[in-house]
Amino acid sequence: VGAADAEYLVSLIGTIPGFPKEGILFRDFIPVFADPKGLRILMDALVAALPVDAADFDTVAALEARGFLFGPALAARLGKGFVAVRKAGKLPTATIGEDYQLEYGTERIEIEVGAVKPGDRVLVVDDLIATGGSSKAAADLVRRAGGTVAGFEFVMGLDGLDGAAKLGGAPVATLVTMP
Ligand code: AMP
Repeated sequence: VGAADAEYLVSLIGTIPGFPKEGILFRDFIPVFADPKGLRILMDALVAALPVDAADFDTVAALEARGFLFGPALAARLGKGFVAVRKAGKLPTATIGEDYQLEYGTERIEIEVGAVKPGDRVLVVDDLIATGGSSKAAADLVRRAGGTVAGFEFVMGLDGLDGAAKLGGAPVATLVTMP
């Protein structure tokens, strides 16, 4: 992302201390979607900053819920399909799931059986990478379904938190780094 575009995106991102709980500095990128110029920059930047060539993956998988805001639009721009990685209990058909540790307690995410086919090469996307735990769990799901993870793309990274180190060496792209 060019410096001016990155600066514009960052100017639209809200910072809410203490949400959803004490000690978290919540980064809210929802205002980007309300701003026509911001939304155009976001979608153009996601395409321009792909961690691998678009020819090297078949499908885009996004994490509920904020990954759903741009994952399908990105997939459509690239002529790919979209895979919904949902929180436990939301998908109506047979699923495969993966449990992962949060700071307190565990979380479970699921995909529908057949959403990722053996041999599918998948780009995993989300709004923000912190510890990398959720995107690692999504990547593990993709692999358990027989797919391979071509790379990861995030709108926001957090300065000083190397979540990408958890992602097993697949290429990672992050549009902006938040302090
Ligand atoms: P992690 O699994 O630790 O990489 O956390 C990433 C997930 O938690 C993403 O789905 C983010 O939406 C959410 N998240 C973690 N930290 C923040 C933060 N500071 N602001 C907004 N979302 C966050």
